[in-house]
Amino acid sequence: MSEETEVVVVGAGQAGVAMSEHLGAHGVPHIVLERHRIAERWRSERWDSLVANGPAWHDRFPGMEFPGLAPDAFASKEQVADYFVTYAEKIGAPIRCGVEVTSVRKHSARPGFRVETSEGSIDARFVVAATGPFQRPVIPPIVPDGAVPVQIHSSGYRNPEQLPEGAVLVVGAGSSGVQIADELRRSGRRVLLSVGPHDRPAREYRGRDFCWWLGVLGRWDEETPPRGAEHVTIAVSGARGGHTVDFRALAADGIELVGLTASYDDGVLHFAPDLATNIALGDAKYLELLRAADEYVERNGFDLPEEPEAHVLGPDPEGVADPRLELDLAGAGVTSIVWATGFATDYSWLEVDAFDEHGRPDQRRGVSSEPGVYFLGLPWLSRRGSSFIWGVWHDARYVADHITTQRGYLAYGTTDRPGAAPASRQN
Ligand SMILES: Cc1cc2nc3c(=O)[nH]c(=O)nc-3n(C[C@H](O)[C@H](O)[C@H](O)COP(=O)(O)OP(=O)(O)OC[C@H]3O[C@@H](n4cnc5c(N)ncnc54)[C@H](O)[C@@H]3O)c2cc1C
Repeated sequence: MSEETEVVVVGAGQAGVAMSEHLGAHGVPHIVLERHRIAERWRSERWDSLVANGPAWHDRFPGMEFPGLAPDAFASKEQVADYFVTYAEKIGAPIRCGVEVTSVRKHSARPGFRVETSEGSIDARFVVAATGPFQRPVIPPIVPDGAVPVQIHSSGYRNPEQLPEGAVLVVGAGSSGVQIADELRRSGRRVLLSVGPHDRPAREYRGRDFCWWLGVLGRWDEETPPRGAEHVTIAVSGARGGHTVDFRALAADGIELVGLTASYDDGVLHFAPDLATNIALGDAKYLELLRAADEYVERNGFDLPEEPEAHVLGPDPEGVADPRLELDLAGAGVTSIVWATGFATDYSWLEVDAFDEHGRPDQRRGVSSEPGVYFLGLPWLSRRGSSFIWGVWHDARYVADHITTQRGYLAYGTTDRPGAAPASRQN
């Protein structure tokens, strides 16, 4: 006999914990299944020195501040993981750790799903896939195995000591790539950084963190971009108390900047001639945000100190106009490549009709094309902030509302009061 519940939430990262809070608030019976520990990825799939990219006042759920942290401080990865453990306890989330979901299949000829797990089966009316935006590390197939002693993904990077002596190429200049390159350079390594298109907002401007500016300017709420639209990575850092990511400063510290890593041929890597364009794009976005911030201050009469020097970027670092286009890996002493090239999703366990022709979740605001199946935590699920700590909490509330409404429909005609209306309506 299988166990029964209303909702099975798969994954107990921040998305699963948020989902549990909102389901609990609606009085919906549910179980959260986590194959490892709560917020496991923060514990064991991030490098040792990682701190949150946003300050503690911002990168949190509304219901609890970070215990013992100043609001403007940046929580360490362990503090983030501990935060979610404490939060889950606070809300009494019914989380079962060490239970892996191996498959979800639709019941035939009745609503609901059979959830197979490492500890038996569960029948549930609804399933929420909260397994994260960053499930499977992606390394583009450019450099063959064995061409350099070590090739790792950023999710496998821990600290400089982990890598063999020698120079390191870091590919990817989002938040992970720039922070890892910076740490490696500070440890005394020769470092090359392959820079693609990026957004690099000022960490702080006129006394306010960029998280605040994106909030008041409505930028976090930008809606899901159209299918196929380019998602430009955001390069920010809370390391060393937080600072603006500036490729001029990284170059001045001795990091050699190159364009996109394009191809490999017989020991030689080739880079695209796009470094200057990529840096100029990042600069333009940086300056645009400052101008929008100034306009906001002006229109609303805020008394925030002016910061004209932030608008002065200075000359491009040496080598940007005429960057290196080739690198003989052995000749340059490169012993490691760290691929900070992002992640893909893996829903091989979710055997339902909730995906488009490209295998991507077919969903709107988390509500999938398979009635009863929901996604949570994906980038741009409803808005720019959807995969971030604070954003997923709001998306989870919408999904919980939707589930509650659907429960009302399914209960129609089966309750003691025939004709009972659904509990709430979706807009
Ligand atoms: C390097 C890095 C830094 C980041 N920094 C920030 C930041 O500072 N601020 C911010 O807001 N966001 C940040 N993010 C983005 C985001 O907050 C994290 O990626 C976060 O971990 C996503 O939470 P999640 O709950 O959606 O997914 P995850 O944390 O990935 O949680 C999903 C859980 O599901 C479990 N799971 C997966 N498959 C199964 C299965 N079949 N059965 C049972 N359990 C399963 C996993 O073990 C995991 O614990 C960062 C991301 C990265 C990669």
